[in-house]
Amino acid sequence: MPPDALTDIVTTVHDYLQYLQRLGVTELPLPALPQQGKTREDLQLSPARRLQQLAETTRHCQQCRLSKSRTQVVFGTGNPEADLVFVGEAPGRDEDEQGEPFVGPAGQLLTRIIEAIGLRREHVYMLNVIKCRPPNNRNPLPDELVACRPILQAQLACLQPRVICALGNFAAQALLHTEEKISRLRGRLHWFGDMQVMPTYHPAYLLRNPQAKRAVWEDMQLVQRALGLRSQRG
Ligand code: SF4
Repeated sequence: MPPDALTDIVTTVHDYLQYLQRLGVTELPLPALPQQGKTREDLQLSPARRLQQLAETTRHCQQCRLSKSRTQVVFGTGNPEADLVFVGEAPGRDEDEQGEPFVGPAGQLLTRIIEAIGLRREHVYMLNVIKCRPPNNRNPLPDELVACRPILQAQLACLQPRVICALGNFAAQALLHTEEKISRLRGRLHWFGDMQVMPTYHPAYLLRNPQAKRAVWEDMQLVQRALGLRSQRG
């Protein structure tokens, strides 16, 4: 485990407990003691169950002003045991209506990017840094990012992927605690706790700037290698 991983884990647990406290949760169930023939591991909740519990807790979240304008919380979707997780910025109009991240044209492009490295959409997990749509698709505000961060950290603690692909400035900066632009962060792997992070351009940016597709392909090849996947192109 890299040197800062333990500090990150403690910070994650601390932030999540504070978040639960703000939601009014005053007690947490203790894990059951091992029963005869069962180990503590047998009794632990699966990532899918833990994510489901977290989604239920988050569904009525009112920790920031975005709760007033959203149609619904867009928690995330995909394989809870995925090795690769994509983290975007915030839900847009389509996502807000359908309750799923990456469902519009940018989502279709992301599907093609995933397939280019030999995976399918259902193999990965997708989520956003911010779970509720900012009005008129404006950028998330700093206090909204802070309010939503414990949910992001708790999701990643449940998922524990090998690689996180951070799509766009907001996702990369939120995960890496930096103000560096995506153009300077992309092209190499970083660390978030004991998970590797590949920052790259958001598919919505690629739709407006197709010349950036080559850079994304180079980044995805690094992801492919980190996951030990075989190249799909020559
Ligand atoms: S954006 Fe995050 S913190 Fe704000 S209301 Fe939605 S779930 Fe809660």
